[in-house]
Amino acid sequence: MTLAEAVVAGAEPAELERLEVPATYRAAYLSKDEVGTFEQDAADKDVRRTLHVGEVPMPEPAEDEVLIAVLASAINFNTVWSAMFEPIPTFAFLERFGRTDPRHDLPTHVLGSDAAGVVVRTGRAVRRWRVGDRVVTSPAYVDGEDPVVQHDGMLAADLRAWGFETNFGGLADFALVKATQLLAKPRHLTWEEAACNMLCASTAYRMLVGERGARMKQGDVVLLWGATGGLGGYGVQLVLGGGGIPVGVVSSPEKAALLRRMGCAHVIDRTQFDDLTGEKAWRRLGAEVRRLVGEDPAIVFEHTGKETFGASVYVAARGGSVVTCGSSSGYAHAYDNRHLWMKLKRIIGSHGANYQECHEVNRLISLGLLHPTLSAVYPLDRVAEAARAVQLNRHVGKVGVLALAPAEGLGVEDHDLRARVGEDRLRMFRSG
Ligand code: NAP
Repeated sequence: MTLAEAVVAGAEPAELERLEVPATYRAAYLSKDEVGTFEQDAADKDVRRTLHVGEVPMPEPAEDEVLIAVLASAINFNTVWSAMFEPIPTFAFLERFGRTDPRHDLPTHVLGSDAAGVVVRTGRAVRRWRVGDRVVTSPAYVDGEDPVVQHDGMLAADLRAWGFETNFGGLADFALVKATQLLAKPRHLTWEEAACNMLCASTAYRMLVGERGARMKQGDVVLLWGATGGLGGYGVQLVLGGGGIPVGVVSSPEKAALLRRMGCAHVIDRTQFDDLTGEKAWRRLGAEVRRLVGEDPAIVFEHTGKETFGASVYVAARGGSVVTCGSSSGYAHAYDNRHLWMKLKRIIGSHGANYQECHEVNRLISLGLLHPTLSAVYPLDRVAEAARAVQLNRHVGKVGVLALAPAEGLGVEDHDLRARVGEDRLRMFRSG
């Protein structure tokens, strides 16, 4: 029996420790020699051309690292950026990292910033995790010896997004993580439901709830762009759970209906605006928010970038905040600064989430208070199609990927909690 087979069969820790770690493993990767793929033909940087699945060399865990067998993973937008080689090829990150840790600087980049699986090897310095533990991963890869990590891991000078700025990510049968990335798998979820949450849910949590984010209060009106997307699907839940009033922006009647099923009563279809980059459209959007909720948003949840940022700054309430973690439509934003300073608004940059924030989010998920937004599941061999769906915005919520898990629906341990939460809630995004 191979180590992977033993994991799938639910073997005891002693058996997992006895079985040999293979020299290579199946993974979704980019090839360094394909970095120029889109140079001649930039019209459609189709990620299916650059995202491959095949065997790659197995890394050796360092003292503070853990090797996990991955049962399931998920697509994040950073995999789309990586596979387009935008804004820069991620091999540049690996080369830089390779100066301190040569293991990462390889001609293949194994992607993926989310995973759920089973610990199969631990480095000598790892204390809190053991072979056989069922885990999910948090995406911030930081050096625990940096003093600032005690304050906020996201301020660490060497902070890296795992599986984006490091090698050996989660879209694979095995993955290498720091022990300080691990969290206990929520027991009521399947492998694919457990794997899809952490990057987006924790990022949304820090943006909205975290001490360094917008610090949402009860009753705050929160405008969320992409409200049924990867980040937005968790953002809406966090606003509702924290007593806020979400106003969700989406781009289709189907997404609007999904938002209403989630309990978001105020919905704006952005397709009614031809172009959101001019003040006329900003005024219309602001008027629409006031018509729906009677006041301006205390918080605008931003990640959409160039095409929306001017509107976000405009519609935020006097003294309100625009909290941003990304720029899907372009990162050189233009906005009218008069609207910012005259009304004492704030722009807050946010990135990922520290280990404690990830722990807090995982607790909410584990208690059945925050739910997966999984909408579709692909086998690892079809990961390029999964990433293509996200690239083309054909998805809602999260798109899952099965690695070693032989089928969907496996991995649930707490059936009582699952029944209390309810299949309707857990599968809400599955029906579109
Ligand atoms: P996603 O699943 O693709 O969702 C994004 C949503 O944004 C879509 O559902 C779409 O909704 C909306 N959207 C796309 N283009 C838009 C546009 N031009 N104008 C208005 N809305 C638009 O992606 P995600 O996982 O939520 O990530 C979103 C962005 O945040 C990405 O750029 C990602 O790299 C970044 N991000 C950053 C961090 C971090 O830690 N810094 C973490 C996670 C994600 P509708 O079409 O329904 O409007």
